[in-house]
Order: sequence, then structure tokens, then C-alpha cells
Amino acid sequence: MKIGIMGGTFDPIHLGHLATAEAVREIFVLDEILFIPAARPPHKSAKPVTDSRHRLAMTTLATQSNRFFRVSDIELKRTGLSYTLDTMNELHATFGATTDLFFIIGADSLADLSKWHAARELVTKSHFIATTRPGVDVNFSAVEKFFGAPATEHIHLTTTPGLEISSTDIRDKVRRRRSIKYLVPDAVEDYIRREGLYL
Ligand code: ATP
Ligand code: MG
Repeated sequence: MKIGIMGGTFDPIHLGHLATAEAVREIFVLDEILFIPAARPPHKSAKPVTDSRHRLAMTTLATQSNRFFRVSDIELKRTGLSYTLDTMNELHATFGATTDLFFIIGADSLADLSKWHAARELVTKSHFIATTRPGVDVNFSAVEKFFGAPATEHIHLTTTPGLEISSTDIRDKVRRRRSIKYLVPDAVEDYIRREGLYL
């Protein structure tokens, strides 16, 4: 089995996340994509995020229509800061040695990968798929220099359609009473309105 892991704050989940996950699933012939909302991502720990109950609900609504998409609450059930290493170990324990894990990250995050907690262990024991937009250059030699041979084998670069959407922009639009149609799935838009999020 090959499982793609799409981690994020998903505050809220948007079509950029979904389109990227679907493109990566096809390109790498993954059996499923597991969306894992983060409890409190280490790099955003200073910034408040929306209650995990809402982020989990929106992620579930957004992924419902794709039979290859599933949602996991493993990071939300954990207390304290959530590290990808803990998630990886938990998933390896659940799925067993015959399943390969592919962490999907934006190419902007690739530049920071060496600073992640236990970065070398993560790259050795799992795969990373760094997605970049057409025309965006990635400095892969710096990554290879840090990780050595495992980088070449376990870090994959791919180009997916560039959707200029970010959760920050969506939150901002809601606050300013602007439309977020076609940026998030309809069910997510409805949920945001119904629950009065981001106002
Ligand atoms: P924020 O604006 O709050 O930072 P975000 O839109 O970047 O939110 P995150 O939940 O932080 O969303 O992102 C989760 C993952 O999805 C990250 O790996 C990020 O690089 C990737 N990602 C975010 N937006 C897009 C997009 N439009 N296209 C492709 N990947 C994206
Ligand atoms: Mg982000």
C-alpha cells in the first residue's frame, strides 16, 4: 500500500489542498490520501487556530465526495505540540511495514524541511512529495546536501496546477464579507456561514 498524507491546519480546508491531493494521488498512484488536521502546528504555535472540532468537520465535509480521501484525527487526539515524527510512527504501527507513507508538502515547506524535528529520520523512513507550481523553481541541491542519498530516493518533486488559494486569504475574505465561492467546497462554505466562523 502507498498512502499519501496531507497534513495541515485546514483553517479552513480549500480547493488548493484538495486539487493538489488529487493530482498527487494520480501521479504517484497512491491507494488513498489521509487528511490529517494538525492540533497546533509547531511553527504556528504562537497563532491561535480555530477549534479543532470545526477544522475536523470541514475537512470531513470537503473530502466526502472522493472515495480515495479519508480523514484522520490522530494529531487532534494527541496533547501538546504535534510532530510529524509521532504521526509517522503511529501510522507505521497501524499500517505495518508493507505500507509506504508519502507526506505531501508545498515546495515552500521543502526549504524548511531540514529544520523539522527529527528531519533525517523522517526522510529515511518515509517519503516526501514536494509540490510546486508550474514555473516555480525549487533549490533541490541544498536539500540534497543536507539529507544526502535519502533525499534523492525519498524526496520527490512534482508540479501540480497552481491554485492561488490560501486559508489566510479565505479567512480574510469572510471577515470582509466577500465571496469565498469556488475557493472552498460548497459544503465548507455553508458550514463557515452556519457556524459564524472567521467573522
Ligand atoms: P494558511 O494561509 O493559514 O497558512 P494554507 O492555505 O497555507 O493556510 P495549510 O493548512 O497551512 O493551508 O496548508 C497545509 C498544506 O497544504 C501545506 O503543505 C501547504 O504547503 C499546502 N497548501 C496550502 N495551500 C495550497 C495551494 N493553494 N496549493 C497547493 N498546496 C497548498
Ligand atoms: Mg500555510
